[in-house]
Parts: sequence; C-alpha cells; structure tokens
Amino acid sequence: MLHHAGAGPRIPATVWRARALVVAGVCTAALATACGPRSQAAAPPTGGGLSVSYQAPRGGGADERDFLRERRLPEKVAEDLNRSLRLPERIEIVGRSCKKDDTPEYDPETGRIALCYGFIGEVRSMFEADRSSGAEGDADERTAGVITETLYHEAAHALIDKLDLPFTGREEDVADQFAAYRLLGQGEPGRAALLAAADNYALYARDADPADADPSDEHAPDAVRSAGYRCYLYGSAPRHKRAAEYRALVDGKRLTKERAALCQGEYDDLRRGWRQLLAPHMTDR
Ligand SMILES: [Zn+2]
Repeated sequence: MLHHAGAGPRIPATVWRARALVVAGVCTAALATACGPRSQAAAPPTGGGLSVSYQAPRGGGADERDFLRERRLPEKVAEDLNRSLRLPERIEIVGRSCKKDDTPEYDPETGRIALCYGFIGEVRSMFEADRSSGAEGDADERTAGVITETLYHEAAHALIDKLDLPFTGREEDVADQFAAYRLLGQGEPGRAALLAAADNYALYARDADPADADPSDEHAPDAVRSAGYRCYLYGSAPRHKRAAEYRALVDGKRLTKERAALCQGEYDDLRRGWRQLLAPHMTDR
C-alpha cells in the first residue's frame, strides 16, 4: 500500500507491515508534548472516523510538519471524509519522520496512515527543480496538491480495509481512482491538486532507471499513473470546456488522443463505482 515509489527500490507491503510493528509506538510519554493534542477540527464526531496527529520531527522535517499544519492538509481530508461517511472504526493520519524510505503508507495492523515529512521535502524539491527548467506553477501549491492526493489515496486503502469494500482489479488503481473521485468533486482546487499529482508522477517516471522496473509491482508504472490522472481530469471536464481549457492535457505524449477519447467513460465509470461502494456508508450531509 505504498504510495509513491520514486526511483528507488519499492518495498513490499509485507515488509512494511513487519516494520510497522516495530515502530508502532507513536506518542510516548516523552514525546507527548511534541506530539501535541489531536487536532480538534479533524476529530471524528463519534468513536470512529479519521483523526490527525503529528509526531515530533527527527533529524529534520520541522518545516514540512509546519507546512502540513499551517495548510491543514491532513485535517481537510479528514473533515471531508468524516462529514461524508459513517465510519465505525478509527483511522489515524500521523505526520511523522519515517525511518528509511519516505513513502506514505496505510498500515492495516494499526489503522494508521503515515505521512512522512521527508516525502514532502522530496516532492517540493522535484517541483523546484522542474520550475527552474521552465515549468509553470508554484512549488508549494503543487506540493500541497500532491500531498492531498496522497492522503486520499491512502484513505482509500483504509476505507477498503475498515469498510470491507469489494472491488476488482488492482487495489492501487482503485485507490488512485478514489483520489480522483474526491478531488474532481471539489472544483478548481481539486483539479489543480490532481494535475500536480499527475505532473509529479511524470517527474518520477522521467527520473526512473529502467533497470529498476518491476513487472510484478502492485503499482502501475508512474507514467501510467500520470496518464490515468490526466485522463480523469480530461474526462471530467464539462463538454463545452473541453476544446479550450483542457486541450493541453492531451499532449500526445503523457495523454494521447486515442486514450482521451475513452476518458469521459473512464471517469463516469470510476465515479459510479465509488458512489455505489460508499452508498451504504454515506451520511445525509
Ligand atoms: Zn497505495
């Protein structure tokens, strides 16, 4: 249930689960002050639902923790899902320094989503380098978009686990589709976040060593995930806007004309699928 693999070797979920047991102790007494109280704004209304907490950074990461806190990125995702869904069990989003790799992860053993401070710095560095090569967009804004998409992706793993949702196909693809489903329902900020995630996957794909390609990886290749998000963006566009605003998405490379012709159907299918999966669990709001 790793999110971004980057250019480095990917860690199987089984390895993560084993490691998670070792690092499961979070806010110990010694760290209680640094961990701080659980965010009230993101506290679930009942015994279940999503909550947010932050661990003290270790060996750097204070700027990234502050970035998350000031923008309330985890809190906003938690509030959105708590408002929309009845969740009988707790799901905790934990901002923290991760040990070796900085890959965000949902751990079914603990019900926690780890959001690694190092991942935030890595994404921002990629966007800053991209900006210097002439690409448009504010690096902080694009980083915030990727983090929000990441949180929805990991939340999808948590919902599949806690609500025992049935699905077919690769869970990683389904989780990407959930991120697109939630973000594309949020207007322009959500669209910008999903485009930032598509751009970020394209950067990972550009920087990857072909020798590291792993056909048995549970994730689709980064270039494929990038194309998927561009496709959903294009497919969700109102028909009258498609010719103008969204034409740039179909660049013939990251998204081809042939795939673009399928995208409205793909987007409609994923939205219908997730609506049906969540229908028994929706609140009335
Ligand atoms: Zn995943």
